[in-house]
Amino acid sequence: MSKVREAITEWVQKNESRIIQLVQDLVSHNTVNHVVTGNEKEAQIFLSQVLRDMDLEVDMFTPEEVPGLKEHPGYFPGKNYSNRPNVVATLKGSGDGKSLIFSSHMDTTVAASGWEKDPWKPVIKDEKLYGLGTFDMKGGLAASIMAIRCIQELGFQVKGDLLVESVVDEEFGGANGTLASRVRGYNPDAAIIPEPTNMAVCPGTHGGALWRVTFSGNTGMSFSGETIVNPANIAAKFIVFLEEYEFNRQQKGGPAPYFEDDHVLPVIVTRLEAGDMTAALCDSGPTECHVDIWVECHPNVSEEDLKKEIIDGFRAKYEDQYPTWNEPVFTKVIRFLPGAEIDQNFPLINLLSEITSEATDQKYGNVTGAPFACDAFMFNVYTETPAIVMGPVGANAHAPDEHLDIPEFLKLVEIYTLTALEWCGYVEKDVHSDEKSNSYT
Ligand SMILES: [Zn+2]
Repeated sequence: MSKVREAITEWVQKNESRIIQLVQDLVSHNTVNHVVTGNEKEAQIFLSQVLRDMDLEVDMFTPEEVPGLKEHPGYFPGKNYSNRPNVVATLKGSGDGKSLIFSSHMDTTVAASGWEKDPWKPVIKDEKLYGLGTFDMKGGLAASIMAIRCIQELGFQVKGDLLVESVVDEEFGGANGTLASRVRGYNPDAAIIPEPTNMAVCPGTHGGALWRVTFSGNTGMSFSGETIVNPANIAAKFIVFLEEYEFNRQQKGGPAPYFEDDHVLPVIVTRLEAGDMTAALCDSGPTECHVDIWVECHPNVSEEDLKKEIIDGFRAKYEDQYPTWNEPVFTKVIRFLPGAEIDQNFPLINLLSEITSEATDQKYGNVTGAPFACDAFMFNVYTETPAIVMGPVGANAHAPDEHLDIPEFLKLVEIYTLTALEWCGYVEKDVHSDEKSNSYT
């Protein structure tokens, strides 16, 4: 093990309580995303002070104040960003190095029902830190900030700029926060997104669509022999079809190079609505039935392709009856999130993978597609900055008792530190000004 590596390991061990404290501080701010509005401001102000105290250059701005955002093809309207600032901080490099950004989001999903403890009062139990957002993704955000602290406190000067950002509005397909930073001009040579991957290195991500599918029919009691078409019955058949569709897709796996072994491609019925729930009773069938579905897809699948595959499959399964039904209507609930991936030869993939597997005795660091959708597509579809998703070990994202595994989390800080140094290049700042090694190996 090199001296640099040893120094980093030692720094992380000594600073364990500071590292965990930062995650706890971030989690203790309620930053639940309310779909159209959000609640990130106080946490972002707190964070910007942490970053200023580190002598970083800090830029704080709301997405709406970024010129050109609303004209960008990746912008999706309908959100309110007043009082929802992004924070971007820069550790200036000395020059001649490649730049890197760690890109995280500050918002969390809503607290799912079933939390035994207060989701905003993080607690440690059995080497796990519990709290809403510990895993997705305030842990990853804190790890990237503490990596910069480690670099500073060990006296390294990076050559390329090293940035960290905390954006607003990622959950529920927001993504305008991530886009706003790109349009503002933060487009370094590479990005690491510390979303929870259990320390897998993910150069590709799923996409996903959330649709409201509306089935319509006619109602009544057929006293005169009228033909009644109950859309709830058609919707029930649709759900049966979706279950088979999900199963069949998952059997197949996905495209090379990242998704061949991907057998998790969710199709989730998220909401069902039919009949008047406010009436004392209903004495005939509904005229409409709504089925909300979240459907994930692999990279290079368009929204239209995905919708067509579902409609064609449903039609084929019920080919005798389908022509007698009204066509189901698909309405977008959130933006379509495209799946995205980067060239497998991009050097940061191997670097991150090697450093991770070395730091974890080969336990983690495999290169694979991420089995979820996130903001990585904003980099990988719309900018020249390739983004890799790689973050902490833990469980229960978007579920009660979300948590982070602390020993692995400390490893993650080491991994981010080493990766940033190696990617950006560095010199050891020395009081006697004799510049030393620029490689950790
Ligand atoms: Zn996330």
